[in-house]
Parts: sequence; C-alpha cells; structure tokens
Amino acid sequence: MYCRIKYLFCNILIFMVFFLFFLPIIHADTPGIQSRYSSQFSQEEYTGNDRFYTATEQAFIDTHPKIKVSNEFDWPPFDFIADDKPAGFSIDLMNLLARKSGLSISYVNGYTWDELMKMFFDGRLDVIHSVAITPERQKKALFSSTFYHGKYVLVFKSDTQDIQNLNDLDKKIIALPKGWATIEFFKTYYPEVHIIEVESSAQAFEYVDLGKVTATVEREGLARYLINELGFTDLKFSRSLKNEILQKASSLRFAVLKTNPILFSILNKTLAGVTPSEMEALKQKWLSKSGWKVSQEYVGLTLDEQNWLKEKHQIRVCVSPERLPFSAIRGNQIIGMTADFLEMFSKKLKVPFKLIPSLSFADAVRKVETGAGDILPMISKTGKRKEQLDFTSAFMDYNVVVIAREDFPFISDISRLGSKRIGMVAGSNLLGKVIQKYPKLNYIPMETIEQCLIDVSTGQLDAVILSLPVASHYIQEVGLTNLKVVGHTGIKEELRIGVQKGNKLLYSIMGKLVRSLNRQELEKIYQKWIGNELKRRPDYTLLWQAMSIFGIILMIVVLWNRNLSRLNKQIAIAHEKLTKKTDELEYISITDGLTGIFNRCYIEGAFELELKRSIRHGRDLSIIILDIDYFKAVNDTYGHQVGDEVLKKLSNLVKNHIRVTDIFGRWGGEEFLLVCPEINIYNASGMARSLCRRIEAKGFGKAGVQTASFGVTSFKKGDNSRIMILRADEALYLAKDNGRNRVESIS
Ligand code: GH3
Ligand code: MG
Ligand code: MG
Repeated sequence: MYCRIKYLFCNILIFMVFFLFFLPIIHADTPGIQSRYSSQFSQEEYTGNDRFYTATEQAFIDTHPKIKVSNEFDWPPFDFIADDKPAGFSIDLMNLLARKSGLSISYVNGYTWDELMKMFFDGRLDVIHSVAITPERQKKALFSSTFYHGKYVLVFKSDTQDIQNLNDLDKKIIALPKGWATIEFFKTYYPEVHIIEVESSAQAFEYVDLGKVTATVEREGLARYLINELGFTDLKFSRSLKNEILQKASSLRFAVLKTNPILFSILNKTLAGVTPSEMEALKQKWLSKSGWKVSQEYVGLTLDEQNWLKEKHQIRVCVSPERLPFSAIRGNQIIGMTADFLEMFSKKLKVPFKLIPSLSFADAVRKVETGAGDILPMISKTGKRKEQLDFTSAFMDYNVVVIAREDFPFISDISRLGSKRIGMVAGSNLLGKVIQKYPKLNYIPMETIEQCLIDVSTGQLDAVILSLPVASHYIQEVGLTNLKVVGHTGIKEELRIGVQKGNKLLYSIMGKLVRSLNRQELEKIYQKWIGNELKRRPDYTLLWQAMSIFGIILMIVVLWNRNLSRLNKQIAIAHEKLTKKTDELEYISITDGLTGIFNRCYIEGAFELELKRSIRHGRDLSIIILDIDYFKAVNDTYGHQVGDEVLKKLSNLVKNHIRVTDIFGRWGGEEFLLVCPEINIYNASGMARSLCRRIEAKGFGKAGVQTASFGVTSFKKGDNSRIMILRADEALYLAKDNGRNRVESIS
C-alpha cells in the first residue's frame, strides 16, 4: 500500500513539473490551441464562422474543390467500409471537421494501407488519417495533434508462456500490416525479429491465431476490440510495451504534405475546436462496449476480392451428406447447422452458395481438393486434412462430453472411469484424440453413434464419449430418455471453413468472412441446434418449468383419456424433458451460479474425498486458496456488474490452466479453492505462481489489470481438512501482508 501511494505521488509530481514546464511549448506548437485561446489574434481574422481562420485559410475553404481523403477497407472500428460506405471513428471525425470548417471531402478507397501511403506521398491524396508519426514521415508531411492514443501491446496465443516484451521476440516471426510505422521501428531497433508483412491488422491477428507467426503488435484498445468483436478468443495481449520510441508511434493523427500548409492549418485548428463532448460521443459510438459491433454489412473485402466474387457469381459448397446436426443433403438441399451458416455467409458476401452434392465426407473433401467445389464449411483441422485443404481460423467450438445413464454419478475426472465400458465409433477422428488424452480407459469399438447410445441406454455399455452437438442430436433423434451428460473430457472441437488449397483470393475472402461473423448471430445458431437442454447452465426457472410440465401431463391425462396411444407419446416427450430438467437441477446443486465452477458445498466434499484418498495411498495433496486483491475497489469504482465479470473471467482463466485432476471451486465472495491431488508443496507453489502471473497478465475489460494473492499448503501427518484450510488461509494473509499479487506457502 505504502509503495502504491509513493508511486502515485511521484507520478503526480512528475506530471505537474511536466505541465508547468511544457505548457508554453505545447501552446506554441499547436496552432489550434493558440488560435482559440491566444489574444494575439486580431479581430479582423475572425471569419464569423465560430473559428479563427485567417483570410487566406478562409479563401482556401471558399474556393478549393473537394479534398481527397484516405479510407481503408478493413480497420474497424477506426477506418473501414461498411455497406459500401466509409465508416468508423476516424471517418466520423473527418466528417465532423469538414462540417465545422466548410471543407468538402471525397474519400479514396479500395486500396491497402501501403498503397494509400504511397498515394499520399505522391500527392494523389490530400489527407491521410489515423496515421502514426515517424521521423522518416516527418521529412515530407505535417502531422496534426493526436486524436486517439492507445499504447502498443504484443498479441499472442493464450498458451504462449515466454513472451512479455520486445526483447523476447528475438529470432521470432511476427506479422505487421504493410506500411505501418511499427515495421520501420522493428527494422531499426530490433533487426533480429523476422517480420511478415500482411494486409491488415485483422489479418495479422489471424496469422497469430493460425500459428503462422508468434505475435503481432497493436494498440491495446484495438487489440481488445479485435479479440472480443472478431472472435479471436484464443489470443491475448501483453501489458503495454515499455519503449518510448515505439509508443510515440502509437497515437493516431492526420497528415498533410508540407506543400499544403494552409490545408494543414485549417484541419488542425478545426480539430482543436472539437469539443470534449463531441469527442466523447464519437468514442461512445465506435469504441465503447455498447458501441459499434461487427455487423451484417461489414466484411472488409479489397477491390480484387470484390471483383473476384463478382466474376464467380457464386461459391460452390461441398458438405458431408450425412453428418447431422452439422450437415446433411436432402433432395438438392443442405440441411442442418451448415444451412444456417451459409444463409448468414451469403447475406454478408452478397453471393449465393451453391451445393455440389457429394456421396460421402471423403468425396466432399476430394471435390474441394480437386477444384470441383470451392469450400467445405464446417470442418475440423486434422493432420491429414491439412495437406488437402487450407483452413480459416475457427468460428465455432464445442465440448466433447461423456454420456451415461441417468443413475450414473457426475464425474469430475474422466481418467477415473477405470474399467467402465466406454463405447466409441471405431475409426473416428474423435477416438484418436480421446485415446491420446485418456490412454488407459476401457474403450469398446462400435459401428455407429446410434448403436453406442442405445447400448448405453440399455446397459450394455456404461458410457459413450461424443461431441455435445452430436450427442444432443442423436439423443433426440433416437428418442432415448434415460441418458445425460455426466462429465467433460476437456477436449474441444473447433469448426473452420476448409478452402481449396492455394486459392489465395478465396482463402482470404473466407478468412475475412469468418472474422466478421457476429458473436450473437453465431450464438443464436448454436442455441438453435444444440439448445440449452444438454448445456450445463444453471437456471432456477427450470424448477417451475418442471412443475408446469407435470401440470401439463395431468391435464393431458384428463382431456385425452381415450386417446391412449397419443397420450403415451406425449408423456414420453414430457418425461424426456423432465429428465433433462432434473439433470440440470443436479448440475445446479454443485455449481456456483455466477462463475459456473464448483460451489463451496461441492468443493468441500471433493476436498474431504481427496484427503481420504491421499491418506489411504500415502500420496501428496496440496491446496491453494486465492483471493482477488482490492476487489472491493472494482465494485466501488465500476459497479457490481463489472465485478461479476471479473469473477467470471478469473474463474475461467484458472479453470483452463489447471490439470484435469485438480478441482477448482468458489470458496465464497472473491475467494477460490483449488485442490491438487498428488503434488507436493513445491510444485503446488509453482503452479500458484504461474496462475498469479497469468491473472496479472490478463486484461479484465473495464476493470483493467487485476491481481490475486495465493496461500498454499500441503497435507502432513495428523492434518484434517479444517487444519489445512486454516494453514492455507494463514499463508494467504501472509501473501496479502507482503504486498499482494504473490504466493506464500506454509508447510
Ligand atoms: P484484499 O486485497 O485485502 O483482499 O481486498 P479486497 O477489497 O479484495 O477484500 P474485501 O474483503 O474488503 O472485499 C471483498 C469484496 O468482494 C467485497 C464484496 O463487495 C465483493 N464481492 C463478494 N462477492 C461478490 C460477488 O459475487 N460479486 C461482486 N461483484 N462482488 C463481490
Ligand atoms: Mg480480496
Ligand atoms: Mg476476501
């Protein structure tokens, strides 16, 4: 605490010195500020336009034709094209400047950033905007004051461990958009970093997502925006990079060639005249959480890509003829989730998708491979297929789960299924993945998914492992009422678009399409096909629903007494629903409603059980208590809702970075317990330190950087659960006392 206050004071002091010292310089440097507030300007120069333009400037405005201004196609939310029109924060700002000054603007678009920069320096553009200042560029152009400032961060895959700052990039490959100031920076100061130049910032993110490069560099706000809005959920970013030269290039300005100082001065003065509330409104519209979302109109295609689509008229689709709920062919139509996706794709690209029928999945792959079809829209990327097709980044994922009869207990750790008979379709892709993760289970090879489920239902098998959408579909299809999800494998399947190999334009179009899909639209399709029935989400209205279903059954009995066969059917359906609701209720009873992890009651029980087990077998057992630092301040500053979000995100983060055998639950408030069987205090502390670093490195949205403190202890002779918790708590308080955001252990 003391350190923080000291730090704060230092900052305030430095800021004040800076302010007093530099204030006159800022004034002199910024014509806008000078013209508005300095009394040196004489009244004659006031044009009556509520702005202090000189007579020369006013004459320029009055006589000059349209000024040509840059417009990129794919840099949301700043500068892009939606519905064939220029859009974005910077575009709105330019329009505002035009309105205030009386200048008129024509936007030049259809070019990449690199091309726009060249056109600007060749004099074919009057203004380029959203541009960073560099010494090289300053030789020929005048730069306005900053209109957006965001610090540069590194963006990399969530599981990247060893990269936090610029020095970690040595000999690594990074992607940077062509023509960006960052390229100049890396070439000058970090020549050991290999750079791949890409078309846009979104494409750089995609390269990171696909593992083609280790990282990219973006402004923090934008990185968060692209990760959230364009669905790069597998990416994360570092803290802002500590390099003044780089950070100087992170602020956005507009630029005019030195040969046109009058236009520059008009624009810069007008920019200085933009009021704080006008600026705030622009920020709200484009950059806030409730602001602009990737929507149906936006894809961000280049002119080349648009022309290619126009020439082709349509995109030819191949799908597996029998792979519900993903796809099936009936008549000459695609049905299943794919049909819904294609409808969305088609609206966005404004071209139809035409089915090229295939006899089998292998046939569909072959058709796209040989060019008889263009794409295969819902497909996971596996070793063999990677050689046959190119893949976009994933646009949907789902869990692989264990299905068993309703009397089967809920299992938190699949590897403990021991000798239970688990059905799996022989030769399936999924089987390989499951065996790799759980090599010791007792797998029974089966012919079909239906057979697996029927055998589980009748007791010939104990369980079956399937992906959630497939399980959900077949359980409904076959009409089995006594099955439920009893556990998660921790395996996720991802769906992508497979594209004919080497077809660069089509691949880049599909990549942009996937990136521009709206999260809510995707969720809607997921809900429609997989629904809530098998999804494990607590909802207390279920109790009422279950009761009403009983009521309905009763009414049916009274009203339809004579029609017995029909009645039986209705009861079966109602029964099926009821079973599912009961499962969900069971789930609710062990789950924390806010975070979706185990609740206190469950984790207490699980801890007791693990403790008994480790005593019996003489094995290690450690526990970790973690507590968010200064969490009250989050609630006080941003409100409870933001606080809740932090709890959810933190729970997810921890859940995704522990071993399958660890049990993680909410102990209460902003405190969590992690039970780690079979590891000693040394390893448990290491694990806690790694979690501590991850939490610190993650951004928590509005709440920004958050940290947590950790207390670790291990089982020793004579312990019981209460004593162990007390000791872990003591360690936690030690961690708080020693400055927070750290780990302490007591053995
Ligand atoms: P310390 O670093 O010492 O742990 O400070 P702290 O502020 O985190 O600790 P304190 O115990 O003073 O405050 C915990 C806060 O957690 C108080 C309470 O409002 C908040 N909290 C507890 N449960 C929830 C919840 O479910 N949602 C939200 N938003 N806040 C919660
Ligand atoms: Mg706390
Ligand atoms: Mg607490």
